[in-house]
Amino acid sequence: MIYVNQVGYVCDGTKHATISGSKGYSLYSEDAKLLESGAVAKLVPDDNSGEETAVIDFSKITTPGRYYFSDEQGNKSAVFTIAKDERELYGAALHDALKMFYFQRCGMELEEKYAGRYRHKACHLQKAFYLDDPQRRVDLCGGWHDAGDYGRYVTAGAVALGHLLYAYEMMPEGFAAQLGIPESGNGIPDILNECRYELDWILKMQDADGGVHHKATSLNFVGFVMPEDDELDITITPVSSLATADLAAIMAMASRVYAPFDREYAGVLKAAAIKAGEWLTVHPEFLFRNPEEVHTGTYEDRCDADERLWAAAELYRLTGEEKHLSVIRSILELKLNMTALGWADVAGFAGLSILTAEKGCFEEWLIDRFRDSWLDEADRLVKIAQGNAFELAFHPSNFVWGSNMNVLTNAMVLAVAHHLSGKAEYLLTMEYQLDYIFGRNAVDKSYVTGYGERAFRDPHNRPTIADGIEDPIPGYVSGGPNRGACDSKANAELLKGVAPMKCYADHNLSYSTNEITIYWNSPLVFVLAYLMQ
Ligand SMILES: [Zn+2]
Repeated sequence: MIYVNQVGYVCDGTKHATISGSKGYSLYSEDAKLLESGAVAKLVPDDNSGEETAVIDFSKITTPGRYYFSDEQGNKSAVFTIAKDERELYGAALHDALKMFYFQRCGMELEEKYAGRYRHKACHLQKAFYLDDPQRRVDLCGGWHDAGDYGRYVTAGAVALGHLLYAYEMMPEGFAAQLGIPESGNGIPDILNECRYELDWILKMQDADGGVHHKATSLNFVGFVMPEDDELDITITPVSSLATADLAAIMAMASRVYAPFDREYAGVLKAAAIKAGEWLTVHPEFLFRNPEEVHTGTYEDRCDADERLWAAAELYRLTGEEKHLSVIRSILELKLNMTALGWADVAGFAGLSILTAEKGCFEEWLIDRFRDSWLDEADRLVKIAQGNAFELAFHPSNFVWGSNMNVLTNAMVLAVAHHLSGKAEYLLTMEYQLDYIFGRNAVDKSYVTGYGERAFRDPHNRPTIADGIEDPIPGYVSGGPNRGACDSKANAELLKGVAPMKCYADHNLSYSTNEITIYWNSPLVFVLAYLMQ
């Protein structure tokens, strides 16, 4: 087999494919004209895929067009494009990866003029009840459905917003195109219009004393129905230090980002951030509890130091108050993963805040500390990628639940390291991680719906299952291979003796390998925007 980036490559860029099981290959134009034949020198065992593999470098092919490879056994690769530049290659994918958040909107009708055939009625309009006082109700309408279910979680939402808003701050010119959402044309970039929909919901999760509730979900997961047909009651779970710190961080940041467009709104965000910061000072202890009667996703996290670090960095940028610097100093004594950008570990967002701050905001030693961490991590990733023919910065143990998020946040680390240093190999390795997402992997699938001849089609996503439309909404990222897959579909079909990169089922029952979430799409938005700038 020959695995390619099924979206494609740019004419003047490096172009790599991965060949497995045979040395000889031929390259054809889409209309089956043989362009060249060649062979790799040797195949090497690959621990991630369990295959004998090598890299095919076809960078010298520079003519725009459509192509495919064939190996010695006649196995054809997916057809791919060679495009004139990154914008032509990935422009539509960036648009759809960002439009995904509109399709995740809760509490409003998705009208045909914006959602096309994926329109649906408004959902989850009822007030939520408190577990300890079920007669008491609170309005929590709005926000994004977190994933393939209809829960809404502050921590997951703040992380997705972090990927998107730092992307906007670093690359505002990459987000000029309109998304075709209800707010389009109001003079504010659509990425900010879309993020505001989630920010407004997160504000509703905050109590008067500044504390922030962890999530709003039903007690159990609903069946495979459209969101407007979900009649389960919604509860609001207790305040957590994780959600409160994440709110402080993202509201402080958003107050800066929205200020040029809407000063009054920026003031509301600032007040919420400061109130959450005060709550964190009064409550220095870790606080998180998922009540046992609530059986939806817990997003359990055992450490809030990284959330507090992110909050302190953004609150310091917001207020300049010394107390936030002392929080940063004391947390830096801990051994945190300083570049983590996932749903549980968020210290990398503190890094993004500090590394992209205006000059003079943070002291040099602090900037150097984060810069060194990012460059060290990027060097580590480059080295791992150079050790396998997929050029993926993964070891077998990295194929965990939501592995594609880690592929994409690794790509973010490489993008930021390239931004800081200008070193070409960071950018190149970042592109190889995208190649993997778009099909240069041992299941021969693009993990983005609608992008690639062999893109995955059957996500664990309730609207996609229930809407009666054969094609999934385009632009959704799959969770990807999970060597610990724990759903019956994945277990039955996959787990026995299968290599980590292949522990994946394109099946809507395989929630542990093929679900979708907001924070798996958001790092793709960041990486595509970086590549296209
Ligand atoms: Zn909803």
